[in-house]
Amino acid sequence: MASREEQEQEAERIFLSIGLAEKTAKTAVSKKKFRGELLEVIEEAGLKDGCDKSRGTLLYTSASTYPANAMLHRRHFIQEYISTGKLKSSDQLEAAFKFLSTCGEQPVDWKKLEESAGIGVEVTPLQIAEEVAKVLSANKDQLTLERYHMNTGKLLAAVKTALKWADGSKVKQELDDQILQLLGPKREQDLVKPDKKKTKEKKPKENGAVAEAAPANAEDTEAWRHADPYAFLPNPAENNKVHTTVNFSNGTQLRIANSAEKLAEHLKVTGGKVVTRFPPEPNGYLHIGHAKAMFVDFGYAERYNGDCYLRFDDTNPEAEKQEYIDHIQDIVAWLGYTPYKVTYSSDYFTELHNFAIQLIKSGNAYVDHQTADEIKAYREERRPSPWRDRPIEESLKLFEDMRRGLVDEGKATLRMRMDPKNDNYNMFDLIAYRIKFTPHPHAGDAWCIYPSYDYTHCLVDALENITHSLCTLEFESRRASYYWLLHVLDTYKPVVWEYARLNITHNVLSKRKLNRLVTDGFVHGWDDPRLLTLAGLRRRGVTPQAIKNLCQEIGITRSDGEIHLHKLDHHIRADLDATSPRVLAVLEPRRLVLTNLPADHFLTCDARVFPGRTEETYPVPLTRVVYIAAEDFREVDSKGYYALAPQKNVMLKYAGIVTCTGFEKSGGKVTEVRGEFRPLQAGEKPPKGVLSWVGQPRPGVEPTMFEARLYDVLFKTSSVADTGDDWLEDLNPASLTTKTGAVSTPRVTEAAPGTRFQMERLGYFCVDPDSRPGKLVLNRTCTLKETNLAALKGA
Ligand code: ATP
Ligand code: MG
Repeated sequence: MASREEQEQEAERIFLSIGLAEKTAKTAVSKKKFRGELLEVIEEAGLKDGCDKSRGTLLYTSASTYPANAMLHRRHFIQEYISTGKLKSSDQLEAAFKFLSTCGEQPVDWKKLEESAGIGVEVTPLQIAEEVAKVLSANKDQLTLERYHMNTGKLLAAVKTALKWADGSKVKQELDDQILQLLGPKREQDLVKPDKKKTKEKKPKENGAVAEAAPANAEDTEAWRHADPYAFLPNPAENNKVHTTVNFSNGTQLRIANSAEKLAEHLKVTGGKVVTRFPPEPNGYLHIGHAKAMFVDFGYAERYNGDCYLRFDDTNPEAEKQEYIDHIQDIVAWLGYTPYKVTYSSDYFTELHNFAIQLIKSGNAYVDHQTADEIKAYREERRPSPWRDRPIEESLKLFEDMRRGLVDEGKATLRMRMDPKNDNYNMFDLIAYRIKFTPHPHAGDAWCIYPSYDYTHCLVDALENITHSLCTLEFESRRASYYWLLHVLDTYKPVVWEYARLNITHNVLSKRKLNRLVTDGFVHGWDDPRLLTLAGLRRRGVTPQAIKNLCQEIGITRSDGEIHLHKLDHHIRADLDATSPRVLAVLEPRRLVLTNLPADHFLTCDARVFPGRTEETYPVPLTRVVYIAAEDFREVDSKGYYALAPQKNVMLKYAGIVTCTGFEKSGGKVTEVRGEFRPLQAGEKPPKGVLSWVGQPRPGVEPTMFEARLYDVLFKTSSVADTGDDWLEDLNPASLTTKTGAVSTPRVTEAAPGTRFQMERLGYFCVDPDSRPGKLVLNRTCTLKETNLAALKGA
């Protein structure tokens, strides 16, 4: 029999022969268990005599990540795919493992596995070259503008989405080559970092009005549609690996991973499915930042055919209300998401209480009597609480007294016995339970002790078998405490992964600030259309798709930043443009009498529902009295002015030509304009000015007036102040303008709340729920891209 040394030498020789780097080979040899597995895998592949490096890497990955719940006797099938070259990339390997994970002990449908992992799929260099060329041409404008400063990650992702099984490094190489061909070698300015100051100066002036966005170039804005926003997140298989390490002040380190046993128990429940949760606290209405969180949580689960819970994280009864719970369910459905289950952290109060007792018994929690201020002061000095080492029995009894309501509020807490001297503040003996004599909106009055967020969140994640606990970056420093607690209670441990919060300019997105704006009457309720709450956006007329498109475009990354309001507006317009029927309307009407028409004149003109796009029409009545916009008449004509003035011709859109013959004035104001109407002759060139107008629904009957609510930015400054109450000073006093005498065609005045229109030249509008018979209200969702003047010229 070979000596240990000989065995190790032989193993090293084999590892080197499959192309592993010397260091990797040596490390693999030194870990006895892994060495054995890698040797087995190589044997299964029949490659003991060596192979190329790419196959070797796949073998190595197989040995290190073969899913624990897949039957081991199936592994050799995968190795055969590798050795015959049918399975070429780590993406394919991962997909194959994922498929096996879901089979459990069931027989494997190998054909399906091959399909889902692209086994045997050949992606030729020509295909890659063609796809890269396609993506580059779609992004050409941005590329030529930004040159080598452009982030090519999304281009890469677009190619990979189209050619799922292409070799990533080959795609990257091809992309680099073609970019070089397109742009030529790097110039001096390509090497300079973009000057952030300069780009800032280009932003619109902070005078409360956001300038109209430049017309978006359709090509350069569409690449995001094809990218996989979830590619940046951990792969589902990460769930089987080491999650993190927790450092202690005494120098020890804890490597956090699931034990084989816990993982097996977990997989038995989930069958290897991805499970996520969206965990709002029902202490306010949701905002567009939460839409991003849902895009991450629901979207990631959907992407991998998994499940997403809607979990109300309701551990703070004072701030929480049934109204918020109802609203959240409503708005989640509005966005188009279907929770796998709706749960409440409070559903688990009994389990959480049992865990607390277990913690006390194992010496990992104690009842403390420090006040909030004392705790803070002690924490700053990293001094342990004087109660930290009290006998377990005493804590058990006191905790029971707390539960039974025998201890006053503020007189005791249950604290986790973590590591008060740790560098991480979140390891300083966090509070697990506090006393609150407040009934709970969901759990009723069953409890007077309530668990804290830090105690609850991770435990409920474990109880619900969440595979990927996705949260925003501010929770990163809480990873240690999250895993510490699951470790000491020996539960299953999810993968925790953080992403950047969404912030949007000219507005605020914190529930605390939103609450202040609502409570102190700065806006008219949580669903005020000036807020970026989802209820506000919905009321304003924004579609769920526009919100999702924004999320898709900005992607899911870990880099913080503020998204300019223009970007949101862009997506709102793009979506509404496709779906909103056009109508004619006038916000500030001016009476125009067509003196050559009889008093009972009534003719319906065919106006276009989607001009230039479809032939569909709707009728607009032309009567002797019609209304045009006040701004579309001037007593004196001037150069560059295209609308109506004495003696001048303009088009009434979809109707014909008006020649202005005079006007009336009273008290210095124009009260009525007179003109003569005639249809446009065949072959006649229409006048440059084309006006929107509204006729009477019947001769002599005034059109129904409506109230148009026009919105501007809620805050004058793009980045709203963050200190004290300063932020309230940034409020834009002109964020709402109301026009009460607006008119439009019957199509609008008869529409139900929630109906959306594009009022030509004026913007997109949506019928407000405030509307009642006799009082119609429309919100302007957003303006059109063009200014009125440009629209006039171009019409
Ligand atoms: P806020 O700080 O705005 O009051 P929150 O974090 O207290 O919000 P929760 O109800 O606790 O609100 O949030 C539910 C989920 O939504 C959490 O996972 C949270 O990380 C996420 N979330 C909250 N705000 C944003 C945001 N601006 N961008 C992305 N995700 C967010
Ligand atoms: Mg919160």
